[in-house]
Amino acid sequence: MFDYIIVGSGFAGSVCARYLAEAGKSILVLERRPHIGGNAYDCTDENGILIHKYGPHIFHTNEKRVYEYLSRFTEWRKYDHEVLAKAGELEFPVPFNLNSLHKVFDQEKAAKLESKLVAAYGMEKKVPIGEMRESEDADIRELAEFVYKNVFLNYTVKQWGQKPEEIDPGTTARVPVFISRDNRYFQDSYQGMPLYGYTPMFENMLDHPNITVSCSSEARDRLSFEDDIIFDGQKFDGKVIYTGALDELFGYEFGALPYRTLDFGFEHHGVTYYQSHGTVNYTVDEPYTRITEYKYLTGQKKEGSTTIMKEFSRSYRPETEDIPYYAIINDENNSLYQKYLSKAKEYENLLLLGRLAEYKYYNMDKIVSLALQLCDTLTEEK
Ligand SMILES: Cc1cc2nc3c(=O)[nH]c(=O)nc-3n(C[C@H](O)[C@H](O)[C@H](O)COP(=O)(O)OP(=O)(O)OC[C@H]3O[C@@H](n4cnc5c(N)ncnc54)[C@H](O)[C@@H]3O)c2cc1C
Repeated sequence: MFDYIIVGSGFAGSVCARYLAEAGKSILVLERRPHIGGNAYDCTDENGILIHKYGPHIFHTNEKRVYEYLSRFTEWRKYDHEVLAKAGELEFPVPFNLNSLHKVFDQEKAAKLESKLVAAYGMEKKVPIGEMRESEDADIRELAEFVYKNVFLNYTVKQWGQKPEEIDPGTTARVPVFISRDNRYFQDSYQGMPLYGYTPMFENMLDHPNITVSCSSEARDRLSFEDDIIFDGQKFDGKVIYTGALDELFGYEFGALPYRTLDFGFEHHGVTYYQSHGTVNYTVDEPYTRITEYKYLTGQKKEGSTTIMKEFSRSYRPETEDIPYYAIINDENNSLYQKYLSKAKEYENLLLLGRLAEYKYYNMDKIVSLALQLCDTLTEEK
């Protein structure tokens, strides 16, 4: 019998599996998809281009422990992600920075705004537009409005399906202007891409004699939560680490938790590069939010051949093939989640971890960090 059953082989499940296996525990990983890696899974498409099947994933972290842990299973390719916004005819780096200023305003106006921003806030500062809107300087207030309209508003409407008036003013206020010439999307101390891709990194992580991985295995077909935890028809005395959706685990008993899902439009083009940057955000026009060209991210070299992906955001429909990507975090949804959480707490040996099980948005590094912390605690127990 296994000591642990882990549901899901994304970062949450795979890091726990490896850590606990090395602590001498026997682990069964149940993964419903035909592959490991969760949403970070990558593979080669029919044109030989390495793609991320569930959307572009760029690794970045300030946590040394996380970077070092993953470095046991992969080498890294240095990659600094840069994102361009396309707003009508305008193209400029985002987060909006001093270089963006010079792309969208004439030289005189850009220079004037630059010196005002630097004088008011200093270099290398991320200033929220909420703060800029309160400036006594009309030019700075005007810039805040420009960023709101051309970077944030329509993009957010597309991403979250909200009307402009429904957008939380707090969220709007936090949109930053970066007083810097640094075009990188992330400023973390460690950033890059697994040299051979994410999937080989997961394969290395799960390659341990104490780990059994079962893909195409729906956990609910084998596990049930009655008075006890039942596995393959028998009481299971080990622990279950569950990284899937909690409403689904309990049959949507209290109603479905709302999410946004994404439709991905992959396109192959017979050119070496389709666009100038890894990701271009369409912040004003077009029905999609962004286009990612994978060769920039992965560093793959291929003449006359590239694959791009357009992202379309929409509401997730529970109990369909839709994949829940982004939890819609608000008071109502959080209180619904709390009902499921209370139910989960009835099972002492059921542990919840991950973006779905916790109904939160987590970057990959945060999940790795939480998985390591959970396993620290589990291995300290007797
Ligand atoms: C479009 C997009 C882009 C992103 N880009 C970045 C980025 O650039 N950088 C970054 O740091 N983070 C990014 N993220 C976040 C990243 O995807 C998450 O941090 C990460 O996937 C969390 O890992 P996880 O293990 O919690 O969940 P997942 O990766 O979703 O893994 C959960 C796994 O559990 C399996 N599962 C669920 N229920 C069951 C069941 N009943 N039976 C069996 N298996 C089950 C699922 O099939 C899945 O494989 C992005 C997210 C999205 C949606």
